[in-house]
Amino acid sequence: MAQLYYKYGTMNSGKTIEILKVAHNYEEQGKGVVIMTSALDTRDGFGVVSSRIGMKREAIAIDEETDIFGYIDGMTEKPYCVLIDEAQFLSRHHVYDLARVVDELGVPVMAFGLKNDFRNELFEGSKYLLLLADKIDEVKTICQYCSKKAIMVLRTNNNQPVYEGEQIQIGGNESYIPVCRKHYFNPVLEKKENQ
Ligand SMILES: [Zn+2]
Repeated sequence: MAQLYYKYGTMNSGKTIEILKVAHNYEEQGKGVVIMTSALDTRDGFGVVSSRIGMKREAIAIDEETDIFGYIDGMTEKPYCVLIDEAQFLSRHHVYDLARVVDELGVPVMAFGLKNDFRNELFEGSKYLLLLADKIDEVKTICQYCSKKAIMVLRTNNNQPVYEGEQIQIGGNESYIPVCRKHYFNPVLEKKENQ
């Protein structure tokens, strides 16, 4: 049975590497996949899924108008899996579309994204994926400042923590750091400067 999977993790937890790995595994068996990413994330060019270790490939860019269900339904050869990167940036209607791809077309969907924004609120895409997904998994990584699991994203600007502001700000001077709860509220940013 096809399922809607949501795999969430904080920054730098290897979500994109996992997408590229899953795609590779399907394709090695001659099974086609569709890779999509948010059009909001233009850091590496429009419609590109790109990991920090330098692996990248093209993806279909999802903007507010994109009809995900119509796109998959219109394919003459249905994919074996739909993979979504940066799923936190999806709108509610996109997530409902993903559910229809699973339920009406029988195509599994694996969506990867952040859960918390830097203010510790849910992104819209994350919220509806948590509500609608059949299976929810955490892609784990470690806090930048200790050996605990990172569960939050700390935004910094000029090495100062930022706890308020617009939810989505891509391509500025901000850094986003994976942190545990303790270090979210008490980041050791001075220490980082001296390293
Ligand atoms: Zn920590």
